[in-house]
Parts: sequence; structure tokens; C-alpha cells
Amino acid sequence: GTLGRAVLSWIDRCTFGPAGDEEPPKGATPGRYWTLDPIDGTKGFLRKEHYAVALALIEKGEVVAGVLGCPKMKVGRRQGALFTAARGQGAMTYLLDDEEAAGEPISVASRQEVEKARFCESVESGHSSHDDAAKIAKKLGITKEPYRIDSQCKYAAIGKGSASIYLRLPTRKGYEEKIWDHAAGSIIVEEAGGVVTDTKGKPLDFSLGRTLKNNTGIIATNGNFHDEVAAAVKAVTKKQ
Ligand code: AMP
Ligand code: MG
Repeated sequence: GTLGRAVLSWIDRCTFGPAGDEEPPKGATPGRYWTLDPIDGTKGFLRKEHYAVALALIEKGEVVAGVLGCPKMKVGRRQGALFTAARGQGAMTYLLDDEEAAGEPISVASRQEVEKARFCESVESGHSSHDDAAKIAKKLGITKEPYRIDSQCKYAAIGKGSASIYLRLPTRKGYEEKIWDHAAGSIIVEEAGGVVTDTKGKPLDFSLGRTLKNNTGIIATNGNFHDEVAAAVKAVTKKQ
């Protein structure tokens, strides 16, 4: 429809560099562009489980808006949730199948005690080390089973307070996380009051083109024990 064509024209306006460029133009400050993951969590989609449609707007290397469509996520007894965030304006959730329904603001869990926290991670152990996560959880005194869910629905779970920690731990050296796997989710967590860094506690750097090449893995939390979680991640992963 008309809206679809408009969205495609916005995406085509990408000002990062010529379409298909792997590398950012030398010395150029990236401008303003969209990053889209039409089906994030393909493995979940194929299992008929969770997946997400993820769209984010990046301006001069900063994520300024994000939208996550999570068709399998439950909202009360209904299924299908949309999550949105705009920088400085908070995060919201809407029912996917009810365009009339008003959105509701979301916020991270108020939980203070890390040992009572629930953490989420990928279903796929090839995308995030389950073994390291188990060691980190043990170190933090966490006894709850991990909440395994595909796609950026993990960020949505943190943003709406269903879990307090998201761990994405590298399974191999040299893997560069893709911006479309994290842009929308990370702004939703931040605008819901949480904190998102890489596994070394560094902010995510969205200014380098298609990947987060300055970062390794991801830690997202409700913000109340981020440093403690980062320290446990460091302690467990430093020997590797
Ligand atoms: P998830 O559903 O959280 O497991 O993440 C799905 C995303 O993982 C996909 O969109 C891929 O881009 C990404 N992915 C693929 N291989 C890897 C890997 N080795 N490490 C981390 N992420 C990966
Ligand atoms: Mg993806």
C-alpha cells in the first residue's frame, strides 16, 4: 500500500554510504538511516516460536527510535505485541492486532536483588554461550532457570519487566554483532529505564556501519545491578 511504499522510500534514503557498502566511507560521519531486520530470530520463526520485526532509526551513530513487532509475545491473555521507543520520550507497548487500543508505557523491573533476578538468553547456544551464562548466574547467586526466547523479544522482556538481565555471550572470537539485531531492542530497554552495554561494560557503538565492531556480546539489565553483572561476566569470561 501507500504506507509500504513510503517506508521503502525512507529506507532507500539511507545516508550512511552507497547501498551495499560493507565499510563506512572513510572519515565520514554517518548521517541518518534506518536499519531493519524483517525477521529477527529466524530459528524461532521456523520453530513457530518467538521472532521479531525490528526497525530502528540511527542518527549520527545514535539510535534515536526503535520499533519491535513481537507476534508471539503474550499481553495478558492476548497474543502479539508492538514495542516502541523514541530517545528521551520513553517506551510503549501496543497490542499488534488492535489498532484502536491505546498504548501503555512500559518500564523495567524495579528488582534490587540480583540473586532474585531472572535472566534471558538465546534459545540457540550457537548465538550465545549457555555454559558461560550458567557460570555467571551461579556467581551472582541466581537460582531461577534462564528464560530462553528467540530474537529481540529478549529486549522487550527486559523493557516490560518480565526479566531483569539479558546476557549475550560470544560463542567464538571475532563474531561482530549486527546493528539490526540490537538497535531497536537496545533503545526500548534504555527508554524503559534499563542499561545496555557490551560484555565489557562499554556502551554500544552504532557509528561504525553494519556491525558493532567495537563491542563484544551484550549485557542488558534493569539498571539496578548492571556493574555487578558486568563484573561477574568479566570474571567468568576473562580466562578464555
Ligand atoms: P537470537 O534469536 O537472540 O539467538 O538471535 C538471532 C540473531 O543471531 C540472528 O539475527 C543472527 O544475526 C545472529 N547470529 C548469528 N550467528 C551468531 C553468532 N555466532 N553469535 C551471535 N549472534 C549470531
Ligand atoms: Mg536478526
